[in-house]
Amino acid sequence: MARHGGRGWNSKVLGAALGVTLLAAGASVWTAQADAVGGTSSKANTSAKPGSAVKPVAVTIVHASDQGAHGVNITIDDGPDPVWTPQVLDVLREYGVKATFCMVGTQAQAHPDLVKQVVATGHRLCDHSVSHDTTMDKKSETYQSQQILDAERMITQASGGVRPMYYRAPGGAFTPYSRKLAASRGMRPLGWNVDSKDFERPGTDAIVATVERELPGGPTVLFHDAGGDRSQTVEALRRILPWLKEQGYSFGFPVR
Ligand SMILES: [Zn+2]
Repeated sequence: MARHGGRGWNSKVLGAALGVTLLAAGASVWTAQADAVGGTSSKANTSAKPGSAVKPVAVTIVHASDQGAHGVNITIDDGPDPVWTPQVLDVLREYGVKATFCMVGTQAQAHPDLVKQVVATGHRLCDHSVSHDTTMDKKSETYQSQQILDAERMITQASGGVRPMYYRAPGGAFTPYSRKLAASRGMRPLGWNVDSKDFERPGTDAIVATVERELPGGPTVLFHDAGGDRSQTVEALRRILPWLKEQGYSFGFPVR
């Protein structure tokens, strides 16, 4: 939606540096994530399993991929949506790609079956607030807290107990307070480097071209699976995912 963008290379470098710090500080978490990507371990998503304790994460906005310099993080925002999310899941499955789904609380509440399907197929959850208010950074802390924590509850309930591992402010409207709150709940603030602009429906060719052109600027790519007709997004993913593979990229998750 509005206000997507504005994340640059500097943020990525910062994120990458932080990733190194995390690697040193929490090797077990890193290993679990690497295993999750390869699908070779039952430890996948360990830190978000039902009943596990909430572990605080870093408060800075992450852009880096746990797959390193040639990693790409596919992130899908604003759903789940009964028409478009299943189509996005189909394309991801076709190419064996795991993605991060930034869900709006009320959407998750309305479509718990889709949330469960996202988790069951190895993707990760991200809290995208209750109301998708892109002016959240201008609102009171009470309001921000309600938006973040209620959405966390809605998503966790819908998933059957799997908590979101990230928090992405709608339109990137983070505040120091919202980042700290999310991080205290184990949700790493999540930015993006490449806005595919799919939300504006510029045509599939334009979406593909934007991603191909801007990907050198960083690994985290933004798409949407709700908020209108997303057929261009589905078609663009069908072209972008095999292209990324041909280019030698590997698909990962944002660093936590
Ligand atoms: Zn959004």
